[in-house]
Amino acid sequence: MFDQRSVMEAERETWPAVWKGWRRKCPNCGSGPLLKGYLSVRDSCPVCKQELFHHRADDGPAYLTILIVGHIMAPLLHIVFVQFRPEPLVLFTIFAIGCVALSLYLLPRLKGAMIGFQWSRYMHGFAKPG
Ligand SMILES: [Zn+2]
Repeated sequence: MFDQRSVMEAERETWPAVWKGWRRKCPNCGSGPLLKGYLSVRDSCPVCKQELFHHRADDGPAYLTILIVGHIMAPLLHIVFVQFRPEPLVLFTIFAIGCVALSLYLLPRLKGAMIGFQWSRYMHGFAKPG
């Protein structure tokens, strides 16, 4: 027996929505910009009018960014130190710039992906009324 909610949930595929969010596009149409500026989420999509203010990304994107950057850079730091033993200031400069650059790259994309995930699963206010 089908209820209305399971039919609606089948309409939104998760990974295409996450991918659209990663590209910082609206998870519904994939062409409207999701963010204004670096991290601010638009209230609604300028193309398809999908309401976007329902998202509850909160600290999730920052958590994922730290998780990923840490798991890439910490082993890399170990390998570079053991294999090449560069000057301390050179090592610090390379990894400081690398960590900041990777974090700035990942943060808005992970935020978009998280919003796309929430949208696809009808989480928070993304659920249709009724
Ligand atoms: Zn849209």
